[in-house]
Amino acid sequence: ASTKDSEQAILDAIEHQFQLDNDALLKISGQFLEDFRLGLGQYNHPMAMIPTYVTGVPNGSETGTFLALDLGGTNLRVCEVQLQGNHEFTLRQQKYRVSEALKTGEATALFDYLADSVDAFLTDNASSPTNAPADPFASGSSLDFMDSGLNSAIPLGLTFSFPVEQTALNEGKILTWTKGFSAKNAVGHDVVGLLQDAFDRKHLHVRCVALVNDTVGALLSRAYSAGDCLLGAIFGTGTNGAYLEKVENITKLGNSAARKHGGHMVVNCEWGAFNNTRTTLPTTPFDNKLDRESINPRLQAFEKFISGMYLGEITRNILLSLVDAAPHPLLFNGRASRELNQHYGLDTAVMSEIEEAWEKGRGTASGADGVEGGSAINTLGASGSEPKVNGSQPHFTHVDELSHEDQSRLERIRSVIIQRLSMDAADVSLRDAAIVRWAASLVANRAAKLSGCAVAAIMAQTGFAKLGGQHVPEEQRFVIGVDGSLIEHYPNFNARLRESVRALIGEEVEKRIELGMAKDGSGVGAALGALQATKHG
Ligand code: ADP
Repeated sequence: ASTKDSEQAILDAIEHQFQLDNDALLKISGQFLEDFRLGLGQYNHPMAMIPTYVTGVPNGSETGTFLALDLGGTNLRVCEVQLQGNHEFTLRQQKYRVSEALKTGEATALFDYLADSVDAFLTDNASSPTNAPADPFASGSSLDFMDSGLNSAIPLGLTFSFPVEQTALNEGKILTWTKGFSAKNAVGHDVVGLLQDAFDRKHLHVRCVALVNDTVGALLSRAYSAGDCLLGAIFGTGTNGAYLEKVENITKLGNSAARKHGGHMVVNCEWGAFNNTRTTLPTTPFDNKLDRESINPRLQAFEKFISGMYLGEITRNILLSLVDAAPHPLLFNGRASRELNQHYGLDTAVMSEIEEAWEKGRGTASGADGVEGGSAINTLGASGSEPKVNGSQPHFTHVDELSHEDQSRLERIRSVIIQRLSMDAADVSLRDAAIVRWAASLVANRAAKLSGCAVAAIMAQTGFAKLGGQHVPEEQRFVIGVDGSLIEHYPNFNARLRESVRALIGEEVEKRIELGMAKDGSGVGAALGALQATKHG
């Protein structure tokens, strides 16, 4: 029994490090607000609060056809977007892989590849017989913007999801790379210029007219399809958010024309860099190991707690510590597979699969727990309708006492582990399966709660809520557009995020938040950015 007790103590100590009580959440959201204020006032704050020069959100009546290019996640995408008015659009897209060599080589090679991809897309689509009648590129003359004096170059919106200090809708310097990119001779350069130069080198008749971030894209596209949207947020490879701010609050714009113009402007928070100063988030040794071994130590600190690129790695670090536990291994008979030993060898999608295998048997939850996907408005996932996320897990040490149903759920998890991590079946017990699920849920639960801190801080920043929970009386719905595999697919991520928002700003406001997927947000958002650019000149 004493061995069991000491094993339990190790697990409890880990669990304890991942807990966040409501006071901790409030402190974190409070720090967010403080950082927002500092970032709106100065140009070199880690919370970059980047003015995007996007000065309003669409209402769904916009029309036009645009090219969009999306770089910043796992894939590069080229799309043709037709905005039809009536909140609807059609989109044709092609994905291209960005190799490690391109991510880390010379910037010109990367941007040449972007231009080649656009070229390939145009060639493929121009020659596609199914598109022939309506294809705006086949004739080269049917695009809406053709009258706007751009010499019939095809207007393209670029979704570039890295920190950029924007100086106009079509101009911005790359501040730093994130998410595994590190191409040389790009930081400090105008990203639109780099792309346009590549188009020009290849004599492509395409003009990059707008530069938006994926968060801005999520905001614009959700506004287009669902009406007033106050925040666009990404929970995918990385995490970030953009919201509509009063220009008078963006004090670092000084006496510029944009500031004098007043009104509203979308601000890209770059909240992935929250806590780069390492003062607010309770950091575990598993986080420190990840950070130390990352290509950007001490940077994107918040993102490293939250996003798809990192959650699997934090979990892997926990599992390895249990494999190596002394004096007795606590997991897998002390053995690890090649995958488990490999840096980033445990994909967040595998955690998702493990939690899904558990949830399936419970009959209440599904993968996309209430994140609205279509254009219809509902409040699925608001308070009351989500599954309980904490109370129902059996304690992982007592697998012998589990019900038959729970055992079969653990069997499913066990197969996922054996398959996805190429483990020797003899080394994976049901208890191991329970421990792996426990570790995954600790990491994902913390990520979702911290994500809720960012969302609640935006609600407070925009004056729609107060931290601590006094509600703002008027009846209003709050539309938030989200994108990313984590929020779309990870079981209970949305419910856990909402639970944290509820704790921070109260149920009255939380239940009126409509969190919906910004479908094809990057492509549609870039098109809407391009539309704004062509309108303005
Ligand atoms: P991006 O943000 O690059 O546009 P995604 O939103 O698809 O793309 O996010 C990709 C990230 O999400 C990867 O880090 C991957 O590990 C993770 N991921 C992929 N599928 C899932 C899933 N089903 N559940 C949770 N995370 C996932």
